[in-house]
Amino acid sequence: MDNTLFDKTITCPYCWENFSIFIEPSSEVGESYIEDCYVCCRPIEIYVASKYDDFVDIRVNRIEGNEF
Ligand SMILES: [Zn+2]
Repeated sequence: MDNTLFDKTITCPYCWENFSIFIEPSSEVGESYIEDCYVCCRPIEIYVASKYDDFVDIRVNRIEGNEF
C-alpha cells in the first residue's frame, strides 16, 4: 500500500488564494473533510470526487452557516 500523500493545489472559496493541501491516500471517493485555508483560516470542505492510482480529483466548498 502506497501511503504517499496526494499534493493538490486548491483555490480557497472565501479569499480565492491558491495553496497546496495534502490528501490522505486512504481517502475514498465520496468522502469529504474539513481543511482550514492556509491564508484566511476559514474552514473549507474538501470533497473527493474521483480517485485513480496516482491522481485524486477534489471539489472545494464553503461551509455554509459558518461565515466569519
Ligand atoms: Zn482563504
